[in-house]
Amino acid sequence: MARYTGPVCRLCRREGTKLFLKGERCYTPKCSVDRRGYPPGQHGQGRKRVSEYALHLREKQKARRTYGVLERQFRRYYDLAARRRGITGENLLQLLETRLDNVVYRLGFASSRPEARQLVLHGHFSVNGRKVSVPSYQVRPGDVVAVREGSRNLDKFKANLEVGRTPPPWMTLDVEKMEGEILSLPTRDQIDVPVQEHLIVEYYSR
Ligand code: SF4
Repeated sequence: MARYTGPVCRLCRREGTKLFLKGERCYTPKCSVDRRGYPPGQHGQGRKRVSEYALHLREKQKARRTYGVLERQFRRYYDLAARRRGITGENLLQLLETRLDNVVYRLGFASSRPEARQLVLHGHFSVNGRKVSVPSYQVRPGDVVAVREGSRNLDKFKANLEVGRTPPPWMTLDVEKMEGEILSLPTRDQIDVPVQEHLIVEYYSR
């Protein structure tokens, strides 16, 4: 299945929440969720009874779309999370959070996860000094994620860092060196994604 290339604001409207897929625009009054906070399509404004299945499905789709992961890959993350010790839902979010593209976004090098994904694909980042251009690469505690030497002068990085977003407590950022270190794996309270992960677990446990 190909990656979704249609209008991304439509995805936010479908999920009824901001997924922050468009960078700075998401923080302005132009955001489609603020302007048209109902689902897209002809029947978007009609009243709808929501089944239990639909609830579970929507929660799964919300997480998948937030992190820009395709269905098959998402299912793989779920299987991996279920095999790990601990709470499956939390393991799942932890796996998604520690993707390299998400870490690049969290560090503030990119204004959105889709942009982070593209920057990683274009080879602008290294992990522990080695170039990594795989967005799904899993970072681990102790890893150092940096903008590569030849990419440091790109206006995009300067502009994104100037916004001054604060990274979450499980990583540190050195703006001068344009690098960040992973201190630990994120705990649930350190992941500010509005997803009820137990509903995703129920979706896959049907
Ligand atoms: Fe979603 Fe951003 Fe579009 Fe708003 S502007 S609907 S948050 S992608």
